Amino acid sequence: MLRAAFRSNPRRFKIRHPVLFTFAVIALTTLVQWIWWPYIQQGPFILFYPAIVLCSLLGDGLVALVLSTVLAKLLFFEPKFSWYLPPHDVFFIITYVVSGIMIWQVGKLTRDALDRSEEAEAANRKLFDDVEAARFEAESERSKLHSLFMQAPVSINVYEGPDHRCILCNPEAQEAAGRDMTGLTLREAVPESIYKEYVGIFDRVYQTGEPFIGKEIQARMRALDPKLEDRYYNIVIKPFHNSRGQIIGILNLSVDVTPEVLAKKAREELVAELAEAVQTRDEFMSIASHELRTPLTSLKLQNQLRVRNLSRGNKDAFADEKMQRMFNVDSLQIDRIIHLVDDMLDISRIRTGKLAIEREQLDLSALVRECVDRQRLQLEAADCKLEMHCEEPIEGHWDRFRIEQVIANLLTNVSKYAKGAQVRISTRKEGNLGFLEVLDHGIGIAPENLERIFERFERAINKNEVSGLGLGLYIAREILKLHGGSITVESKLGEGSKFTVSLPFA
Ligand code: ADP
Repeated sequence: MLRAAFRSNPRRFKIRHPVLFTFAVIALTTLVQWIWWPYIQQGPFILFYPAIVLCSLLGDGLVALVLSTVLAKLLFFEPKFSWYLPPHDVFFIITYVVSGIMIWQVGKLTRDALDRSEEAEAANRKLFDDVEAARFEAESERSKLHSLFMQAPVSINVYEGPDHRCILCNPEAQEAAGRDMTGLTLREAVPESIYKEYVGIFDRVYQTGEPFIGKEIQARMRALDPKLEDRYYNIVIKPFHNSRGQIIGILNLSVDVTPEVLAKKAREELVAELAEAVQTRDEFMSIASHELRTPLTSLKLQNQLRVRNLSRGNKDAFADEKMQRMFNVDSLQIDRIIHLVDDMLDISRIRTGKLAIEREQLDLSALVRECVDRQRLQLEAADCKLEMHCEEPIEGHWDRFRIEQVIANLLTNVSKYAKGAQVRISTRKEGNLGFLEVLDHGIGIAPENLERIFERFERAINKNEVSGLGLGLYIAREILKLHGGSITVESKLGEGSKFTVSLPFA
């Protein structure tokens, strides 16, 4: 409105050549006076008064006064066209000059006043324009800042006052918090469980003015909404001040670094896993080579002994009975090597998901009896006292080779960990499951190891006490998993163990 008023106020009319204008006005006035002279002989200056007023305002008042005085004398006072002035006219002309000077001065004053008011008006107009421009600039800066905040690819929350009322919550921050927090105080915006953590930081920043910078801070989003995932942020919490330098609020800027943190964690876990894998591999290599070396060394020694007996012609060493025993021992050692190599191959098959089963119809009880017969020598060597309850036929659709492997491993373990002990092997069926139980009164297993022994390379015994790779039960569990079955153990340290295999018929 005000601006419009200034703008609509017309500028005062100004003459570009005031002296020329003055000459023109006086010339015109003189002409009119000359024409009207016969009617206004008493007033030779009568028309010059308004002319001086006009010239004082728009032209040059002094020039007008001088010119009009000279022209009036020459044209309207006797003797005309002569500089001679009779004494009685001197007073007349002086009166005109004095009053002319006064009119000129008043005109000049009026003109100065008009000029000044015009200048003041221009100054006002400029001031107003400046104020308007500044306001416009501030407004556009504000809106630029606002849109910058709103479009920023980071979460920005602005809080005001000691109770930290949110006055700006950009879309990123809304998405991170799961809602728009504008208008809410910190207490209203975050749940009680995490409020205490946040308010401490906010209060400190608000009171001390010291900014808070946090890296990879975990935001417990689940506390806000169980559907949300916890996230990680790099956070800057800074105070902001009014024009007098007083803290009036807090700016909270958070950059979501969740993908980076998760990637870093995954990397760290991977590195730890790799380190563990390398260590496990090294241990495995040393155990495996030791395990392979033992039967190979034994075979080598036996061979050397035979060569020596042959070269000495010692025929007694090759008597039938001795030969039979020799072959039995050799076969045990060779079985041991084959078993080790098979286990290693199976581990790599399990790792690559290539351990497959080929089902066929078979009887679990018969299979157990066969396996026991095959390993009888080994069990006798370990002095195990066998008790078998495997008469009932238990028909199922299983992989013969792999189930034999499971049974063989359990029997091998019995011969290793239940030497000289009572062993009970039984089969039964229940519902649609076939069961095999191997119960021994051997060394038993401590409770903390009961789960662990089914993992890869895990053993519940010192590697120097009993040989083994810690793979048998792991492979057995994987084989049974592929059949939809399971293997469990119950045991007491020093009292013995009971391994139970369950197999669904189909
Ligand atoms: P390995 O016998 O080669 O060590 P296994 O996977 O067959 O590997 O067995 C894992 C561990 O479980 C063994 O090292 C041993 O500590 C424990 N274990 C297995 N069977 C028995 C058992 N019958 N009695 C006591 N401990 C056993």
